[in-house]
Amino acid sequence: MASIQKPVGTKDLLPDEAKFWQKFRETAFEIFGRYGYVPIETPVFEQTDLFVRGIGQATDVVSKEMFTAISGENLKTLLGGGHIKSKSRLSLRPEGTAGVVRAVAENGLITQGGAPVKLSYAGPMFRAERPQDGRQRQFNQVGIECLGAGEPTIDAEGIIMLMRFFEAIGIPADAMRLLVNSMGCEKCRPAYREKVRAFILEHADALCEECQRRADTNPLRAFDCKKEGCHAVMAEAPRIVDNLCEECHEHYDAVKGLLDATGVSYQEDYTLVRGLDYYTRTVFEVQVIEGMGAQNAIGGGGRYDKLMAEIGGNPAPGFGFALGYERCKIALEANGFKLEPAMAYDFYIACVDDSVRPLAFNVLQTLRDAGFRGDLDHQHRSLKSQFKQAGKLGASRVVVLGPDEVAQGMAKVRDMASHEEVNVPLDQVAAAFAE
Ligand code: AMP
Repeated sequence: MASIQKPVGTKDLLPDEAKFWQKFRETAFEIFGRYGYVPIETPVFEQTDLFVRGIGQATDVVSKEMFTAISGENLKTLLGGGHIKSKSRLSLRPEGTAGVVRAVAENGLITQGGAPVKLSYAGPMFRAERPQDGRQRQFNQVGIECLGAGEPTIDAEGIIMLMRFFEAIGIPADAMRLLVNSMGCEKCRPAYREKVRAFILEHADALCEECQRRADTNPLRAFDCKKEGCHAVMAEAPRIVDNLCEECHEHYDAVKGLLDATGVSYQEDYTLVRGLDYYTRTVFEVQVIEGMGAQNAIGGGGRYDKLMAEIGGNPAPGFGFALGYERCKIALEANGFKLEPAMAYDFYIACVDDSVRPLAFNVLQTLRDAGFRGDLDHQHRSLKSQFKQAGKLGASRVVVLGPDEVAQGMAKVRDMASHEEVNVPLDQVAAAFAE
């Protein structure tokens, strides 16, 4: 029978990598915790409407890339030509923000007059994109969301926190580029959108068909087009920075001022619009400067002051970002990073013959209960191959149990690095390890 393989665009995180992903998340949560962020877990699927309303129907993520999940009974109904309630239309989350914002609204986490709600998350996201290096259909993100505060200090500390995290996991500061922009707000953006729409229509001949279509659906996305020709044309389009209202200008200047004061370097990029509809004011992206081709964005985010109301909650300003684990790993590897073995054993027990096995099993348990990681040979191998096995598992000590030692109530403990051996009373092996 043909073997079944993983779905296209997915990856198995084998133990060494799964362990690294765990450490990656823990490092993020530890750093984000210093800024007041606490973890939240939301479902990996939500009502499709949440993403349609939150992220926007006209975005690629919603219009082309969502995996929609249909449960058994509903699938039958749909296949039979029937309708299912919109509540039953479910999609795998393509990003984390919409779900977290929904959870904040649904659970009333924002309290009147209270501090802003600061949440962090980590987990898989799903987008039906064309897979390539650094672009998967299931990938892992770590992100944060801050709800209930519109001040520029929230944006600035978020950006600083993200840069500090990248450096903490080992991506050198000079290997990254931080791009910032402002998307304006509902006061200044509509007029700006109109200007860009008019610009696209004026230059339609020089733009691709998709950009021409964007004039009606989502003009600002034309800035995102990867085609050289479109990019060159759009570089001449009206700039958002010249079209911000006074409040948005002040906010943008304040964010930049805070970054300057902290010594975080950035570049302003007036074409940075990011793919999702919900952003207002600050948007930013962190790219790796060399070696990652088109998939060089390792993280990004921005402010979304209208999203809460969009999904039916009490209006509240928001700010967030997400970073991609897989792309960070590629960036780390470009800087010489190698995965470490998932398990470095503290000890391995080698049995000289089968008569000592019952006792060995007890010693094993005692050592594990004392907090040490280890194992014994479960397969009745020869003493020589037990030592080989201990080496392969990276055990730093081997506890040798033979009938002679055991008869004297002793075990032999060999240090695998120095090859030194000492005899230790059986009930003091754990204490000897701790020395
Ligand atoms: P976005 O939600 O599109 O802003 O994505 C945030 C980060 O997630 C990006 O900067 C990437 O690092 C990562 N990311 C987004 N889409 C993918 C994907 N299809 N495969 C792998 N990583 C991704």
